[in-house]
Amino acid sequence: MKTDIEIAQEAVMKPIQDVAAQLDIPADELEFYGKYKAKLSDELWDRVKDKPDGKLILVTAINPTPAGEGKTTTTVGLGQAFAKLGKKAVIALREPSLGPCFGIKGGAAGGGYAQVVPMEDLNLHFTGDFHAITSANNLLAAMLDNHIKQGNALNIDTNQIVWKRCMDMNDRVLRNIVVGLGRPVDGVVREDHFIISVASEIMAILCLADNMKDLKERLGRIIVAYNYDGEPVYAKDIHAVGSMAALLKDAIKPNIIQTVENTPALVHGGPFANIAHGCNSVRATKTGLKIADYCITEAGFGADLGAEKFMDIKCRMAGLKPDAVVLVATVRALKYNGGVAKEDLGAENLDALKKGIANLKKHIENVSKFGVPCVVTLNRFVSDTDAELSFVKEFCEERGCDFALSEVWEHGGEGGIALAEKVLNTLENKESHYAPLYQAEQPIKEKIETIAKEIYGAGSVSYSPAASQAITRLEKLGYGKLPICMAKNQYSLSDDPKLLGCPKDFPINIREVYVSAGAGFVVAITGTVMTMPGLPKHPAAEGIDVNEDGVITGLF
Ligand code: ADP
Ligand code: MG
Repeated sequence: MKTDIEIAQEAVMKPIQDVAAQLDIPADELEFYGKYKAKLSDELWDRVKDKPDGKLILVTAINPTPAGEGKTTTTVGLGQAFAKLGKKAVIALREPSLGPCFGIKGGAAGGGYAQVVPMEDLNLHFTGDFHAITSANNLLAAMLDNHIKQGNALNIDTNQIVWKRCMDMNDRVLRNIVVGLGRPVDGVVREDHFIISVASEIMAILCLADNMKDLKERLGRIIVAYNYDGEPVYAKDIHAVGSMAALLKDAIKPNIIQTVENTPALVHGGPFANIAHGCNSVRATKTGLKIADYCITEAGFGADLGAEKFMDIKCRMAGLKPDAVVLVATVRALKYNGGVAKEDLGAENLDALKKGIANLKKHIENVSKFGVPCVVTLNRFVSDTDAELSFVKEFCEERGCDFALSEVWEHGGEGGIALAEKVLNTLENKESHYAPLYQAEQPIKEKIETIAKEIYGAGSVSYSPAASQAITRLEKLGYGKLPICMAKNQYSLSDDPKLLGCPKDFPINIREVYVSAGAGFVVAITGTVMTMPGLPKHPAAEGIDVNEDGVITGLF
């Protein structure tokens, strides 16, 4: 089998206007970034915005192994399969972050014969959206520190600065730093922190904003610090809104590229799902629903993280109504959840599978809590044995759960036809009664506990003194009615990454709580989850190279 990048480099791409034409988008509604990448213009949105919506399909997964379980691969393959069935479909994905790309996980363009291309561009700088987001974030940080240096007219308490600098890189040494060292002209000395760009509130704002007007209002509402009276200081008080919005002028427009089978793909925005809300932009999803009959989108990590936030944050805020969920499982991840070590996942192990399948069962139950019909798909690896495959199939069918084997990684769209037919059948025969899990009006602790108990299976929730104080303060300031963005490790349903399978009645600890007032949610951080990841002992970056002809190798 060829590597992902070899398959991607062999794909014969079509000029992007030919791909857009499949969705009746004329070339003059595109803004070109070379031959194979474009942004969708505002004129396009204005033309389609009053059309009826197509069907919205969310692809999510069980708790993953560190390599990922193939949600992007499945999303891409499903889009390709819909095209093979003659359906007008578009996929909507997130843009990859350089952190995981050079770290453990690799890129996020799909895999095998279900990929989007040009994959090197997508995984590296793409159309510059992350650069724009990082710049806007750091402009605000620079203006904030400058304001303090220039006399601090806003009376900002330098011990209560909450805005952090960001960079799109896994760089652990920047988690806790001191800035402003040197002479008086070098600024005011204080402790500062870097987060990864995909955890920046600007990323969340870009992904949730409807248009430029909404974007600017949200940027203005960002809380950067508190003053000596304990009152919030906003980005608008620093006079940074116009310049940040100017930096984001093009970044708010969705990007269009193609799959290896030349079908259309929208790729826009990329908040992480463990520390942020984990979904591509509202604007891309909404556009997808207008220009196609089916919009297939992915939310990051397992359904406990990405899907929960897709349902409770993105759909609630944007007024979206998902019609079906595709829940991706792999024999490998089920065995991993059954206690098998990463290195041994290739060998048949029915006992571990029987144990680990409790994880799938819990996610099926969780999806049903949102009222959306669910199809389980097994993303087939060549190492899977027939006995293992039939076990999972029977497990689903015995429970009346729609099931399809997916072979899109090996066979592209052709390998996804069985799944596409199951999804179409579900859309026709099962109605979605989508509803968020909790009411936004509930108190913050009640919302956190609903997610922890209903979705994770926790028995109790405890709060650090700082988290409890923050909740009281936020409710006093009027932020109590926002939805919750949980920050949790992705490997376990609990806040302990080693507790695999389907743990029950465990305690969960909320370490830190803060508001992302511009994005419009309250973040609750559990366990030890990091907003700036680190690199492993041998990062993927060690294997990446480019030759004299500009051909890149080693990306995956
Ligand atoms: P996710 O979106 O769930 O994180 P991806 O779709 O990005 O997962 O896939 C993660 C990695 O696993 C990719 O490198 C991809 O090539 C590989 N992969 C996915 N499905 C398969 C499969 N069926 N067989 C082998 N490798 C696969
Ligand atoms: Mg993915």
